[in-house]
Amino acid sequence: MPTDNKHESRLRAARQRAFDYVSEQMERIDACPVCHGNDWAIPDSTYVLREVTADGYTENVFPLVLATCRSCGYVLLFNASMAGTVDDWHFDKDARDAVD
Ligand SMILES: [Zn+2]
Repeated sequence: MPTDNKHESRLRAARQRAFDYVSEQMERIDACPVCHGNDWAIPDSTYVLREVTADGYTENVFPLVLATCRSCGYVLLFNASMAGTVDDWHFDKDARDAVD
């Protein structure tokens, strides 16, 4: 169905943007800040951090793309909004506001 193809195409494009954005940022890093290794796993997925207060979880989430050091497991996090992977997510505005 055309709708499914469009949806899948959008998902694939978002995954590609996640990978491309993190890969581009990683070119600026000389080595892992923890173990000084330079072997990174870069998933093409977008993740979220969820806000929690003394009252419990809120509805606020913060979208992230990331890279993981294969030597020590240190994780570098990047705002997924900057990567352009969450442009059509309903909480995108909140993430953008967090950057400003
Ligand atoms: Zn490391």
